[in-house]
Amino acid sequence: MSERVIPLVDQRIPTLSVPAKAFEAASRISPNGLLADGLGRPLRDLRISVTDRCNFRCSYCMPKEIFDKDYPYLPHSHLLSFEEITRVAQQFVAHGVQKIRLTGGEPLLRKNLEILIEQLAALRTPEGQPLDLTLTTNGSLLARKAKALKAAGLQRVTVSLDGLDDAVFRQMNDMDFPVADVLEGIEAAKAAGLGPIKVNMVVKRGTNEQEILPMVRHFRGTGVVLRFIEYMDVGATNGWRMDEVLPSAEVIKRIHAELPLVQLDPSSPGETAERWGFAGADGQHDPSLGEIGVISSVTQAFCSDCNRARLSTEGRLYLCLFATQGHDLRSLIRGGASDADLASAIGHIWQGRSDRYSELRSELGPDTSAPGQRRVEMSYIGG
Ligand code: SAM
Ligand code: SF4
Ligand code: SF4
Repeated sequence: MSERVIPLVDQRIPTLSVPAKAFEAASRISPNGLLADGLGRPLRDLRISVTDRCNFRCSYCMPKEIFDKDYPYLPHSHLLSFEEITRVAQQFVAHGVQKIRLTGGEPLLRKNLEILIEQLAALRTPEGQPLDLTLTTNGSLLARKAKALKAAGLQRVTVSLDGLDDAVFRQMNDMDFPVADVLEGIEAAKAAGLGPIKVNMVVKRGTNEQEILPMVRHFRGTGVVLRFIEYMDVGATNGWRMDEVLPSAEVIKRIHAELPLVQLDPSSPGETAERWGFAGADGQHDPSLGEIGVISSVTQAFCSDCNRARLSTEGRLYLCLFATQGHDLRSLIRGGASDADLASAIGHIWQGRSDRYSELRSELGPDTSAPGQRRVEMSYIGG
């Protein structure tokens, strides 16, 4: 077995500036909802990280050895304010974004998050439609906050939960946090109307794979959609190894052996999860039993229709979860750029996008970044 090597982290990785032609009269891009990147992919989904801090230390994301009390978290002045986030988000929506997901770090740690949710919930697409506004959380503060989040205009939540066994869960979050509190959070979210609720479980072979079936039995028929995520080589600190990835095909096989499944059509283009429904006695999908999903970012790349952009806590625009550099939008905003400038900048950045890391990983093997370039951490740009 190879020894785990954890590189030193410096979050101050280089930024990319915005192409100058974004501001030249002849090459300005005005939003028309039809923006496409270099591979013809539209811009539909914006993930906004509202904090780089978290109260958990999941070893696949923020290992304790690195994210300790000396870790250089961003000072408050570096964070985009709610007004700044909403202003940028508005330009993304003008370019075709229909879905916004708040993430982090742990988004519910950001003070007064409800105010941001209210502002984002007021945005409308060019067709006058409200956005699909959702949030990914570790669930630890959900029981306390679910009602207020719903009242502010949040539509749904995704809760991360890596097992039902209390000892396994405490080990996974590495903060001795009890599973009962997250389950209570899920119930509170349901009661508040933040559904349909999705529960994400990252599966690490040899760590929590024995939790797959108990999780399925627990959530089957409850309206909660459980999704299994392959452990990914995001960031540079989690000591990722391919032999700790349990392929989604294996997850489906194990579940199907006990509870028969039938494959379902994707719910929308760019959908990351492959959907499987629980079969009834007739072998057909029984909607009352619900469905599960698998997200196979390692064994089955889905870059070809990836329509997701990511805005970091300090206002850098990342074009891929595995990016090594982000485009600095904060200095534009704080430097007096107009809304039209911002929109044109986003347009040029997206048009220049050719990222397809997972496909390259399948072709060339892991870590295709150039020497000396370090991938951004998941806790910094969000999932
Ligand atoms: N703290 C919140 C949470 O855990 O839901 C939101 C941020 S977290 C970075 C977003 C998602 O990324 C979570 O569902 C988490 O399980 C997932 N994640 C983090 N590191 C991962 C990894 N190495 N592989 C796969 N998923 C990962
Ligand atoms: Fe925190 Fe979420 Fe990362 Fe776990 S996955 S350490 S809860 S940000
Ligand atoms: Fe999208 Fe990058 Fe993931 Fe491919 S690797 S699906 S481009 S985020």
